[in-house]
Amino acid sequence: MTAALIDGKAAAAALREKVAVEVARFREATGRAPGLAVVLVGEDPASAVYVRSKGKATREAGMESFEHKLPATTSQDDLLTLVDQLNADPSVDGILVQLPLPPQIDERVVITRIDPDKDVDGFHPVNAGRLATGLPGFVPCTPLGCLMLLRQTLGELSGKSAVVIGRSNIVGKPMALLLLGDSCTVTIAHSRTRDLPDVVRQADIVVAAVGRPEMVKGDWLKPGATVIDVGINRVEGSLVGDVDFASASAVAGAITPVPGGVGPMTIACLIRNTFVSACRTEGVTFDS
Ligand code: NDP
Repeated sequence: MTAALIDGKAAAAALREKVAVEVARFREATGRAPGLAVVLVGEDPASAVYVRSKGKATREAGMESFEHKLPATTSQDDLLTLVDQLNADPSVDGILVQLPLPPQIDERVVITRIDPDKDVDGFHPVNAGRLATGLPGFVPCTPLGCLMLLRQTLGELSGKSAVVIGRSNIVGKPMALLLLGDSCTVTIAHSRTRDLPDVVRQADIVVAAVGRPEMVKGDWLKPGATVIDVGINRVEGSLVGDVDFASASAVAGAITPVPGGVGPMTIACLIRNTFVSACRTEGVTFDS
């Protein structure tokens, strides 16, 4: 292995610690704690784990965690009523509805009902539009965490060529816009891209957000490239990314491991976004 490991766990711990220090200052200045409401509908075990770890991280940062667990049979109207209540509740700065939702509920309707200024997941079309047009809003946590890791690893990103593999609304598209915002030359690849290995080989920065275990191989990479592996795939009981770590780490300059790379940054960015929301509401300045 020649690549440096990009330690997302350490970067996430540092970000969470920084936010916790600022939260203490916020509480002193305003007399209240920032609050994050997390809504879980049904009993999907993976979602339950995510919701628990989000609640724990929220409390550890000195913020309030409001957890709402609803049965799998919950109607869309009942969920929308809860979202309306959370939108109106001044102790709630951030609202996160854990996806996926049961089939009787239309995800898009629910996400669009969240107040964009409390949409700390950054999934609301208003926040997608703000990102696309360079206005302040909320950026989805996973691509935001990837950008932070890239800046930390490479410093200035301006002028670098970046390939993002994947064009989902929650990872690929916002990732590409963030890299463009940092003046990278960005290519977005997807399932219809021709000669994907050749496309990837042009890139100084590769972000893989595909959902296909170990798809990106070492011989697809430009030597010295920085590789961010967003993928979380369960294979025979263990977690692997979208990048074949063994071959890629022999060619890349730096690479994120799975687990311990992008995953921890996602939760840290959620905590950060919730704190930013509270600061905007109270007119408090922040620098995390
Ligand atoms: P989606 O399934 O929504 O999107 C996958 C994208 O990959 C699509 O744009 C698809 O193209 C593209 N794709 C699929 N097959 C190929 C292929 N053979 N070649 C090139 N492109 C392909 O996934 P998400 O964006 O939601 O997630 C991607 C991965 O990131 C998953 O492994 C997920 O588990 C992980 N993830 C990790 C998070 C974290 O915190 N670390 C958070 C969120 C996701 P097309 O559009 O043409 O179909």
